[in-house]
Amino acid sequence: MTIQWFPGHMTKARRQIQEKLGLIDVVIELVDARLPLSSRNPMVDEILSGKPRMIVLNKSDLADPQMTKEWLNYFTAEGHIALEVNASTGQGTKDIPNKAKELFKEKIERQIAKGIKPRPVRALIVGIPNVGKSTLINRLAGRNIAITGDRPGVTKGQQWIKVGTEMELLDTPGILWPKFEDQNVGYRLAVTGAIKEEILNVEDVAFFAIKYLARYYWQPLKERYELEQPQPQPQDFENPDEIVAIMEAIGRKRGCIVSGGRVDLAKASGIILRELRAGKTGRYTMESPF
Ligand code: GDP
Repeated sequence: MTIQWFPGHMTKARRQIQEKLGLIDVVIELVDARLPLSSRNPMVDEILSGKPRMIVLNKSDLADPQMTKEWLNYFTAEGHIALEVNASTGQGTKDIPNKAKELFKEKIERQIAKGIKPRPVRALIVGIPNVGKSTLINRLAGRNIAITGDRPGVTKGQQWIKVGTEMELLDTPGILWPKFEDQNVGYRLAVTGAIKEEILNVEDVAFFAIKYLARYYWQPLKERYELEQPQPQPQDFENPDEIVAIMEAIGRKRGCIVSGGRVDLAKASGIILRELRAGKTGRYTMESPF
């Protein structure tokens, strides 16, 4: 389900996160490894107001591994704890409790100094819709049964999930909204399926995707659709016809033909996006930190 974000929804989402912040020690900010900036909320720093936080790049199985390394370096250089995971398979997720403990280290040390037995670190997952929050919660929960929230301030129905012996996770994530101010951000979100492409025009979204892939990921694109034309040259990217020609070639390969032998671009665009999101066109990252 894609939420239509109006100012009222944003205010409500923000309030819901702020209510949860009072209950937790650290935040797990989930972003999409294919678009680590565009899938971040523009106001996340302000909303989380200084809570210790790690940045988790999810869906790393779909992203370009070299670019994921670059992004991890980028976030680390910014002073964040950053890691990559695949919430679907659980790859990398075992590190999350350790990193959470690291973020909470000072408090744990203070508790130990005072002779108090340190309690498990309490965490909240936040992120924009579709980034994989529920998948990660289920993955971290494993077969553990949630503990009912009988602590002060815990909203009725809200539960804690034990993750190992050292971390507890709120079972409902904090939902953040994506950025809207930049059209390219909107396209990137639509290409990866973070927002429904119907909000934009499906052919425009596929055009944006093909233009990007033809420039940076030509080989996997060519192989997927057995393209016969050469890779467009830098100056060709200024000419929309060059990109449309690739979309048409894909449409013909996939039998998207209408009367008169023309290619049904809308149908071809739907196929392009579906296959791209499913990772069938190879691993790709839609933005670079440099
Ligand atoms: P939420 O809206 O943030 O809770 O997102 P969901 O957990 O519902 O996940 C959205 C979609 O992304 C689902 O179809 C998941 O199966 C898929 N997904 C989540 N994590 C991963 C991942 O690491 N890799 C891949 N390939 N898909 C994922």
